[in-house]
Amino acid sequence: MPSIFNYSRSELGDVLVELGHQRFRAEQIMRWIYHQDVTDFSAMENLPKALRSELAGQFVTALPIAQSEHISGCGTVKWLFSMDSKNAVETVYIPESRRATLCISSQIGCALACQFCATGLAGFLRNLSTAEIISQVYAAKERLAIIAPDQPKITNIVFMGMGEPLLNVENVFRAVDILLDDLAFGLSKYRVTVSTSGIIPAIRRLTTDCKAALAISIHAADNDVRDQIVPINRKHPLKKLIEACDAYTQATNRPITYEYVMLKDINDRPQDANKLAKLLASRKAKVNLIPYNPVPELALASSSSERIEAFKRRLNQSGIVTTVRKTRGDDINAACGQLFGQVTERNKRIDTYQFHRADCA
Ligand code: SAH
Ligand code: SF4
Repeated sequence: MPSIFNYSRSELGDVLVELGHQRFRAEQIMRWIYHQDVTDFSAMENLPKALRSELAGQFVTALPIAQSEHISGCGTVKWLFSMDSKNAVETVYIPESRRATLCISSQIGCALACQFCATGLAGFLRNLSTAEIISQVYAAKERLAIIAPDQPKITNIVFMGMGEPLLNVENVFRAVDILLDDLAFGLSKYRVTVSTSGIIPAIRRLTTDCKAALAISIHAADNDVRDQIVPINRKHPLKKLIEACDAYTQATNRPITYEYVMLKDINDRPQDANKLAKLLASRKAKVNLIPYNPVPELALASSSSERIEAFKRRLNQSGIVTTVRKTRGDDINAACGQLFGQVTERNKRIDTYQFHRADCA
C-alpha cells in the first residue's frame, strides 16, 4: 500500500477524484495530517465515515523508526532512521537562537563518489521515495515536540544529508512541493534548499519545476582540481555548470549559495581563492566555506583556520558574502552526507565519531 506522505495536495486530489470523492477532501486530509498531527484516518472527524475506512484501506501512514538518536549539548539532534530492513539514513536537527534547520537525506548512498565524502564511499543503493523524504521531517517534528519542546521549530530544510537530490528529481521536487504547501509544512521557498554537486539538466528544471533555493557544491574553481575531488565534473564541467547557474539566476533572480569544503593543500591555496573570487565576483553568489569533516578511511585533512580565514578575506575583497560553517552544532551540517546506508558496525562508528565532533561540550 502506498504511503500518504507520497502525495502532494494536487496528486492526492487526483487520487480522491479517481476514487469517486470530491477534490476538497484532499485539503481536509492534509490539514489533519500536517496541521493537527493526526495520522489515524478514523479520527478525521470532518470526513464521512465511509471515506475514513476507505482511506485506511488505501494508504499507510507509518513513520520510520529511529535506530539511534543523539542529542548534543547545544541541542543538535541526529537520528538514524530505518528506511527498510537493511538501510537507514541520517537526519539532523540544528537549532539556532530563533530558527532551526533540518538536514535531510534524498538517497541511500550516492553514486557520485566525491573524494572527501563517506556517503560516496558506499556507492549508490537506491533513491528515497517522496514519502521517505517527507517522513524524515514528520518524524523529526513529532520527536522534537517530545524531547525539545522549547527549542525553535523547524524553519529551514536543507537537502544536505545522504545522496544527490538532483539524481532523484521527481521524488525530491514533489517533497519540496509538500514542504512549501500551506496545508502541509508551509515553509518559505527561501528556506528550503536543494544542494547539488552539479547535475546540469536538473538545475535547468529547478528554474521551472521546483521553488527551492539552490546550493552548488563547487569545491574548486578549476577543472583540474574539481575533476579529482568531484568526479561528476568530468561529465558536467565547470563552464557548463556555471552557465546553468547563470540561467537559473536569470530565470529566478535568486542568489546561489556555493559550498566549498576546505581541504588542506588541495583547494585552499591563495591561487584557489583567487580563481573562485574571479569566477563568482560578478555573479549573484554567496559562499559557504565548510571545514572538512574527517572521514576515518580517507587520507585528507581540513585546512587550518588561518587558511580558511585568508580564503574568506580574499573572497570578501571581491565583494562576495562568505560564511564559514561553524564547528559546533552547525558542524554536524558538514557531516551531512557522510553516512553509509547500510547499518553496519562501521556505520555506527562514523555516526558516533561525527556526533562527538559536533558536540559543543
Ligand atoms: N549530494 C549533495 C548533497 C549532500 S552532501 C551535494 O554534494 O551537494 C551535502 C554537503 O556536504 C555538500 O556540500 C558536500 O560537499 C558536503 N560534504 C560531504 N562530505 C563532507 C566532508 N567530509 N566534510 C565537509 N563537507 C562534506
Ligand atoms: Fe554524493 Fe554529495 Fe557525497 Fe558527492 S558530496 S558523494 S554528491 S552525497
